[in-house]
Amino acid sequence: MKLLVPVKRVVDYNIKVRVKSDGSGVETAGVKMSMNPFDEIAVEEAMRLKEAGVATEVIIVSAGVAQAAETIRTALAMGADRGILVETDVALEPLAVAKLLKALVAREEPGMVILGKQAIDDDMNATGQMLAALLGWPQATFASAIKVEGSNIQVTREIDGGLETLALSLPAIVTADLRLNEPRYATLPNIMKARKKPIETITPADLGVDPSPRLVTESVAEPPVHKAGVLVNSVGELVEKLKLEAKVI
Ligand code: AMP
Repeated sequence: MKLLVPVKRVVDYNIKVRVKSDGSGVETAGVKMSMNPFDEIAVEEAMRLKEAGVATEVIIVSAGVAQAAETIRTALAMGADRGILVETDVALEPLAVAKLLKALVAREEPGMVILGKQAIDDDMNATGQMLAALLGWPQATFASAIKVEGSNIQVTREIDGGLETLALSLPAIVTADLRLNEPRYATLPNIMKARKKPIETITPADLGVDPSPRLVTESVAEPPVHKAGVLVNSVGELVEKLKLEAKVI
């Protein structure tokens, strides 16, 4: 079975994001970009399934600007077999990405698509669900364990009340949660090997998809700055302040 793993290039999670001065979005010029952390987990899970003999090939796909090829290369250095870059300068929304992935699923016929549960830049948490709907495939989101049994999978999900285990038939869509695994670091020999692995570059038009945005971002703003706290000298003073000054916001 082939596995398709979509990875998104996002602002590195260690970077404090800044809003552009005109409020139109988040500043990305000159900012360190990396693979979305949940996608690293998805790549790791795909590699483990390949190493366990369950998967035969791990294909990485990223949609976005030309530099997204670097993100694909990172996944290839973790051990994935080949990459596909769907190159476009259009700011992609989850529905557009899901349509591109649907077209690639028709071409590659994977047994499973493992996505991240959400991209940390715009927190949409929608692409996997939309892809499942477009394909009419079963989906298990927020996976914290995946077990493949023949043509079925068991997926454990972390929910409010504890753990839920779902049984799905393949082909299926799975989205990776934080505790699914701990992604490996790419070793130097694997980074070298990854340089020779193929990355095919295509466009949305090649897949017959119009990626034009359908949403309008009206404004993006920094979160409000918290007011400085007050230091009290005694428990008595704290109780007084709670009685007289504290308000429920
Ligand atoms: P989102 O729905 O935007 O929160 O993203 C959920 C998941 O969809 C991500 O973790 C990726 O696996 C995948 N994804 C989203 N955008 C892209 C993209 N431009 N290229 C490849 N994969 C993407």
